[in-house]
Amino acid sequence: MRHMSGDQTLLKRINRVALIRQVKAEPGLSRVDLAERTGLTKTTVGMLVQELIQEGWLCQSEPSPGQGVGRPPLPLALDPERIGLLGAEVGVDYLNAVACNLRGEVLFSRRTEHRHRDAVRSVRSLAGLIAEARAWLLAQRRRALGVGVGVPGMVDARGGILRFAPNLGWHDVPVGSLLETELEAAGCGSLEVAVLNEANAAALSEYVFGAEHHTGPLVYLSMGIGLGGGIVLGDRLYLGHDGLAGEVGHTILERGGPPCACGRRGCAEAFVSQRAVSRQATGRDQPILAIEALVARIAAGDRATLRAAAQAGEYLGLLLQNLGNVIDPAVVVLGGPLCQLGDAFLRPARRAMQDNAGRYDYHRHSLRLCRLGLDACAVGAAGSVFQRSLHPLEALGEPEASAAPAPVRATRRTAQ
Ligand SMILES: [Zn+2]
Repeated sequence: MRHMSGDQTLLKRINRVALIRQVKAEPGLSRVDLAERTGLTKTTVGMLVQELIQEGWLCQSEPSPGQGVGRPPLPLALDPERIGLLGAEVGVDYLNAVACNLRGEVLFSRRTEHRHRDAVRSVRSLAGLIAEARAWLLAQRRRALGVGVGVPGMVDARGGILRFAPNLGWHDVPVGSLLETELEAAGCGSLEVAVLNEANAAALSEYVFGAEHHTGPLVYLSMGIGLGGGIVLGDRLYLGHDGLAGEVGHTILERGGPPCACGRRGCAEAFVSQRAVSRQATGRDQPILAIEALVARIAAGDRATLRAAAQAGEYLGLLLQNLGNVIDPAVVVLGGPLCQLGDAFLRPARRAMQDNAGRYDYHRHSLRLCRLGLDACAVGAAGSVFQRSLHPLEALGEPEASAAPAPVRATRRTAQ
């Protein structure tokens, strides 16, 4: 067998990823379809597909019995059985770990209440949950590709460091390396770890595993005690210059408005959050009513709470209008507990979005609710592991020229 040079290996990686992407976007394609879609030769596609099937990325199902003569094409899909993705979340008062397959189907989920004291202890407990999820995968004869972790704060993604988590009181915690150590101690060997902000992770849950299979921009709003945001642009999370992009909750909607937890006034979060609705409904900052209590008040027709929900919705509509103008997203996904306020909150939001659309509104993004509920962050963190393997150039630490690597046609000399 001929020795492959570094370039040929890279070429092959790019082509493999192109095939996985294509099948992910259009399940049911045959090898012939793939050759047509990617411009690769049938021989190359055949060889690479065989490899991807052997490694557990793709699977083929039996063709539907046709009337034609000859061998019918075999439909390909992402293999749901053999590769597992691990995801976890450090919540403000809970820990969560999931295992899912390449299609984002949650196979295992373990969630525990957790009172944080010091970060090392919390990370150790989280490692315990992840180890359980991994053991479950192994028992099912699946291999774990890696683990992603969502945390409620600002993250320096390069070093896996949680810079600041206001609701945990943590500063500069190297979550990534701590978790790697704890996972190794828990018998997980060396598992690759990625650390993400929780709203960014939730955005990936919709982007990587969403039904749309688009590559257009996606905006995710995580509406709970606070208001977080995640933006996917050009097929990857948009992190900005310092990894701090997407903080739409702290864009100011009203000059001199109510105080925000960040120290400014009139931030979107000061209007669109559980904290804001609770304050508006009760006239007090503390205690912040639980989402169940707010939902019960709305169901009982409590006028102050209904007004509070409607006002939060109106500001959400303004925010959505602003985001539409800046990003022109393909999809906006609303997630987090505040969505449970239902129509009392969401109807005014849609109305305000339209009322503030101006005369020439060409935006036609779809607006929908998050599909995964409480698991959104952990599943998205797991999705980040898959997402990373779909960007082979980034895995080598090189900036990527284009959004999604295009297949590279092999020359005759290239060993594929
Ligand atoms: Zn703020």
